[in-house]
Amino acid sequence: MLYSDLFAWALRRCAGNELPTAIEVLIEDSFSLSRSRFWIQKNQVIRDAKGVRRFRRRLRRLLAGEPLAYILREKEFFGHAFAVSPAVLVPRPETELLVEKALELLGGKAARVLDIGAGSGCIAISIALHAPVAVTALEKSRPALRVLKRNIERFKLLERVHPQAGDLFPPAGEPYEMIVANPPYLSRGDLRQAPRSVRFFEPAEALVAGAKGTEALERIIAGAPRQLAPGGRLLLEIGQGQRRSVSAFLKAAGLREVECVRDYAGIERVIVAQKDR
Ligand code: GLN
Repeated sequence: MLYSDLFAWALRRCAGNELPTAIEVLIEDSFSLSRSRFWIQKNQVIRDAKGVRRFRRRLRRLLAGEPLAYILREKEFFGHAFAVSPAVLVPRPETELLVEKALELLGGKAARVLDIGAGSGCIAISIALHAPVAVTALEKSRPALRVLKRNIERFKLLERVHPQAGDLFPPAGEPYEMIVANPPYLSRGDLRQAPRSVRFFEPAEALVAGAKGTEALERIIAGAPRQLAPGGRLLLEIGQGQRRSVSAFLKAAGLREVECVRDYAGIERVIVAQKDR
């Protein structure tokens, strides 16, 4: 069998799904081929039987709806490859907007940052890679913490990104100049509507906040003023249609809403608030 035959065979098996790129990536990874190598070798006979078995096993998982990131145990975010496992959410491109905004507001200055619900650490680590910050990365799930620590080591940030077991806030200490979070913001009903790859494979506790979906956002906002330094900022990823409720939470907490960034689909996605000086 040629590589091109294997590719065509796999494509036929998932007829109708938009998976050709995923299949290509799976082939490349299963046979340890670079993209250009794959295209050069396309019409050569496959001699790597182990690679074929590996590929078939993984293709089965892909066809069952498992996210490619879990199969490869890696996901690119903000230009870097993060380790992931089913214990953490797959980092999303929308979340890169939050990182971009955070970096813009930090303006290259040193700061203390708190990331609530750090998961893989994609936010905390991306910020630390581009700004001279010290980040406390809070995560309540033990298996997620292990992935977080692996990523901190991968990016050699042990000095500046500190994983900490915990839910909403660390015990009160020195205040933070910035708090960031991509908390669970779906309702239980939203999760039922979500694609199979999300519903059956990603950790529900990272996705669902409660009956309304805004519960975690509300708790984070209510607690933020106590943890923020004067003039400190709060950046939160929010769900579609949650802007109004979130604005109300901010007002109730005495935080000033500064802006709301829309994502690539035009949805209000990242809200920025500030504590008065
Ligand atoms: N902070 C992580 C991310 O943005 C995890 C978020 C979560 O688990 N809700 O991917």
